[in-house]
Amino acid sequence: MPSTIKDILDEFKKHHSFDSAKVIERAYQFAEKAHRGQKRKSGEDYIYHCLETAMTLAKLKMDAETIAAGLLHDVLDDTKTSSGQLRKKFGENILNLVKGICKVGKIKYHGKERMVENLRKLFLAMAKDIRVILIKLSDRLHNMETLDALPEEKQKRIALETLEIYAPIANRLGIREIGGDLEDLAFKYVYPKEYQEVVKRVKDRYIKGKEYLKKITPIVKKNLTRKNVRVIEIHARTKHYYSLYRKLLRYDMDWHKIYDIVALRIIVPDIESCYAALGVIHKKWKPLIGRIKDYIAISKPNGYQSLHTTVFCQGGKITEFQIRTPQMHQESEYGIAAHWYYSEEKGLKSYIKRKILHQKPEREFKKELSWVKQLQEWQNEKFSSPEEFIDSLKIDFLKDRIFVFTPKGDIIDLPEGAIPIDFAYEIHTDVGNQCAGAKVDEKLVPLSRPLQNGEVVEIITQKNKKPNRDWLQIVKTNAAKSKIKAWFKKN
Ligand code: MN
Repeated sequence: MPSTIKDILDEFKKHHSFDSAKVIERAYQFAEKAHRGQKRKSGEDYIYHCLETAMTLAKLKMDAETIAAGLLHDVLDDTKTSSGQLRKKFGENILNLVKGICKVGKIKYHGKERMVENLRKLFLAMAKDIRVILIKLSDRLHNMETLDALPEEKQKRIALETLEIYAPIANRLGIREIGGDLEDLAFKYVYPKEYQEVVKRVKDRYIKGKEYLKKITPIVKKNLTRKNVRVIEIHARTKHYYSLYRKLLRYDMDWHKIYDIVALRIIVPDIESCYAALGVIHKKWKPLIGRIKDYIAISKPNGYQSLHTTVFCQGGKITEFQIRTPQMHQESEYGIAAHWYYSEEKGLKSYIKRKILHQKPEREFKKELSWVKQLQEWQNEKFSSPEEFIDSLKIDFLKDRIFVFTPKGDIIDLPEGAIPIDFAYEIHTDVGNQCAGAKVDEKLVPLSRPLQNGEVVEIITQKNKKPNRDWLQIVKTNAAKSKIKAWFKKN
């Protein structure tokens, strides 16, 4: 069912004040008039695309300006509307949001070069206002949902770009809800055979698993309430197809090793209730050894928090439970958008609440923002070709990340496969240049050994030590590479 402006307003008003909704209505009237008569390739009126984009933003609980900009996001590119008009009607903020996702001139750039210039522009705009990327991702989500309407060759190109660039950006910003959907939509076009295979193998298990969870949900609920654990929500979580596919690749396509195709998620009001719920479940059903994970006491290096357990559930069926508070849930699904919501809407109140509950501070948010800032600085560098730009982007910013620690406990994040030399250059150029050895978890390791998530890394430096040319072959990050090259140029 296509979203209407009323649906969007209803969604918005669940989380925001009535007054601020006016600009959303005005934006809708304006966009509807500007796009009137235009059709999408699918044959639908153009305004539906704007409405779906805005609806995604409303579901992310974004503020009124962002939703209004979502409705208006294509008026500069695709209608006769001028920047001046938009500024006059909606002000500087909304104008900048819309301009942020405008494409670069069609005449000046072509092909890959055009794609690169569009990305550069986007990275600059999102460093100024992070909301730009949320609009872009929502726009892309609807474009992917309607990709069938485009010619085949275009489908593949757009899907690949989504899988390699936009979905990783979403995931990197913690917006897993959108990242997962983008991946699944692109998966179908980029790897059609593998997609069919996964869907075929999993469909039955999804349906049966969901039926089973539906059956046990009231039993779980009854047991929890009997022990005075208040339940805010229980729902079944099915794994996204693409992330399942990648997990299968890691497990040599052995389906028997994957227990979490479907899981039962329990949302309870606070941390105490999380542990109480875990106790109730373990008393009722025997847990599997080695599958109890307390990511609340020790959150995952990427900041993820929840309790996980896998038990022999009703009828002996192996079932995974995930237990968390509403805020943990928001942050794990919506990432930077959730941070935005909590910091904008709740402001001080949320800050104080975090302090009282000893919840983790805004560290994650800062980390994500600093990533955006690095992205902006990086794109100022010179690249010899659009291909080099894309390669560097994929490896330095979008590849799966590992998180390692300095001896002082600071978190450094690096692309998967990074080695101690990458780590050293990440700390400081001099530390990299004078790097003589490395200790991982207090043991000496070769400088070429790939680092693993969660390791503590210490670099041993030596005055007068110099970089080695061979390092260029083994480092993973382009940052390290360019610093090593710079040293040789200078010396
Ligand atoms: Mn659009």
